[in-house]
Amino acid sequence: MPLVSMKEILKDAAEKKYAVGCYNTVNLEMARGVVEAAEEEKSPVILCHAEVHFKYTSLERIAPIMLEEAKTSKVPVAVLLDHGKSFSAVIKAMHYGFNAVMYDGSSLSYEDNLKNTAEIVKIARELNVSVEAELGHVARPKSAGADGDEDDSIIDDKSLYTDPFQAEEFVLKTGVDALAIAFGTAHGVYLKKPLLDFQRLSAIRKAVDVPLVMHGGSGLADKDFSNSIMRGICKINYYTGMAQKSAQGIRDKLNSSKDMFFYHNILVWSIQEIKKDVQNTMRLFGSSNRI
Ligand SMILES: [Zn+2]
Repeated sequence: MPLVSMKEILKDAAEKKYAVGCYNTVNLEMARGVVEAAEEEKSPVILCHAEVHFKYTSLERIAPIMLEEAKTSKVPVAVLLDHGKSFSAVIKAMHYGFNAVMYDGSSLSYEDNLKNTAEIVKIARELNVSVEAELGHVARPKSAGADGDEDDSIIDDKSLYTDPFQAEEFVLKTGVDALAIAFGTAHGVYLKKPLLDFQRLSAIRKAVDVPLVMHGGSGLADKDFSNSIMRGICKINYYTGMAQKSAQGIRDKLNSSKDMFFYHNILVWSIQEIKKDVQNTMRLFGSSNRI
């Protein structure tokens, strides 16, 4: 199947009230595991690579791998640059063939975020690339294991939550295809039990007509996911949980293995562990059996 537009993938999810998982894949085994899971679950999927992960794998090295996985997959796959903070990363991702980019201007002033996002949308339109932006700010605390550099106290800062009125203007003026919003989730491992502001989510849903995106999808209760999806979330970014569970699975296999083992065993285990966890999330997000 050729690469499918993220806008189209999310349109179906929004109409039918389910969410599509967006999974960070920093190497071939992760990309393989995610796509195998999607094929087995008959689920659309979004593969992504985050700018914060460029230190593990550069965009130019991982792009051909992700795109090949998408193009040879039996299910719809979009390939997205996740949290592109620099203009350079966003333009390079389009150049390497990603069909979606997330421009993250959430650390800038509202005016600068709006101006930069609008500029990127203008370029992306010409190339049929879908654009996600972030309004408000989903925290990335230092101690949460998600390459964060923000003070841990940021998780209590409700002033960073998305304002529904601002969201309406932002979507109108930028023309984005999807909007990541802040309503109580955080990147990485939750440092304390998250309390999601569902009323805010519903108010944002009423104010804008583009698909809404949840970041910080690792460690929420199942009912938080279903409630969020019911209220309009149709893309969920998920990485930390998958990265932790698959690493633990590999560690268990290494510890319990009595046979001789080799490096290639780890590659195979990696794919299996990623696949298992991704399949679970697809069932949880309701994207299974949609193809
Ligand atoms: Zn994120």
